[in-house]
Amino acid sequence: MELPVNVLDEWVKGKMGVESNRRLTPKIIKDYQLGKLVDVLTYVSQTSPFYRRHLEGCQVNNLKSLEDVARLPFTTEEDLRSSGLQMLCVSQSRINRVVTLDTSGTTGSPKRVFFTLDDQALTVEFFQQGLATFTSSGEKVLIFLPGERPGSIGDLLAKAMENLGVEPVQFGVGQTLREILDKLVDTQAQVIIGIPIHVLALARYHRLLVPQKPLNLKRVLLTTDYVAQTVVEAIRGSWHCEVFRYYGMTEMGYGGGIECRQHDGYHLYQGDFLLEIVDPDLGTRLPEGELGEVVITTLTRKGMPLIRYRTGDLARLIPEPCSCGSVLIRLGPIKRRITGLIKVAENTGITIGELDEILLALPGVVDFTAVFSSLTEPFLLEIEVETLGRTIDLPQLQRALQAHPAAELLLKQDRLRLRIKEIVDPAGYQPRIGKRRLEVKTDHEGQG
Ligand SMILES: [Zn+2]
Repeated sequence: MELPVNVLDEWVKGKMGVESNRRLTPKIIKDYQLGKLVDVLTYVSQTSPFYRRHLEGCQVNNLKSLEDVARLPFTTEEDLRSSGLQMLCVSQSRINRVVTLDTSGTTGSPKRVFFTLDDQALTVEFFQQGLATFTSSGEKVLIFLPGERPGSIGDLLAKAMENLGVEPVQFGVGQTLREILDKLVDTQAQVIIGIPIHVLALARYHRLLVPQKPLNLKRVLLTTDYVAQTVVEAIRGSWHCEVFRYYGMTEMGYGGGIECRQHDGYHLYQGDFLLEIVDPDLGTRLPEGELGEVVITTLTRKGMPLIRYRTGDLARLIPEPCSCGSVLIRLGPIKRRITGLIKVAENTGITIGELDEILLALPGVVDFTAVFSSLTEPFLLEIEVETLGRTIDLPQLQRALQAHPAAELLLKQDRLRLRIKEIVDPAGYQPRIGKRRLEVKTDHEGQG
């Protein structure tokens, strides 16, 4: 397959109004971003009641360099919950889609993200540019994502594909592994786009139980914020295909960055986002290359722009140029969510991301639940691993967990209960919808 050279750079260049005979440089990107930043700050201060208050006294017209953005206050998930509607910069009648996110918070109100028609067109543009880097016209792409409703991710992806001459195979989620695999066999799609855990389940089901079914799969794109390296390797190993990762949260209108064929970090969509890395505790900006919390500012959103939004993702920017030749800066792999760390002892704890890396590496595992219970003293962590067929046993599960210092400590203290749940009908298995997380059981209200 012939891949177009640096599609993303050409797109960003066009966005920044750089003439075709000039090269895109980091300086051009920074100057453009500063201009856009001032524009968006002015826009939100004039149109959104929340930002008018939030940015009061910040002299938003007076930013001299991108570094000055550090003078502005952060926005957080809690702002989305408590002041979502106040953050809007347009009247509610211009909102075309509202996405409610299911993550838990302290205020009890849902976290909602609002999109205008223009914002949705921007999402289609993000998808189209990303797709152009790893698909060719005439190919078929199985969309293994929610896509039933107009304006959903699957629907917008299909639009982007049609613009590119790529054929979308809409499948949605909530189907059984057999149904999805049959579709893949029938259509002989070359590409799958999906959520890591779902694609992993499909790959394992195929290799373990129906390997005689012939596929024509060449590439897989995994979306969502955190993609375990283990999952990438397991899918690559099962299907001998190339696996790309995409970084794009709902809050970012599903845009953000995509891996190039070097598979070493996400090239960021710098025409639309300003991204900073800050110290998660102090909130101070960290130099390029240091690990910290990802903070984003949307530069082109209309309905609900986000200014210095704390994503809760931990990652670092990769300052070295990429060997693919792109000048778009790269974001390294997302290490873990900042929240959700279970502290086991003074200097050690465990996260869902680390559990992913350990548990999903085991053969046949397609999902797991982890329940942290502080109803007992000391607390207890219960892990149930779901497998297709009898692929692992308890001692094997224990040995795998012992590789993690926190889990090893819990095992020693008999505070880690393990269970293996064998999926009786693998063909009828439906991958679970929604983000997995460590479930917490406490006697405090509002949690659990
Ligand atoms: Zn690259």
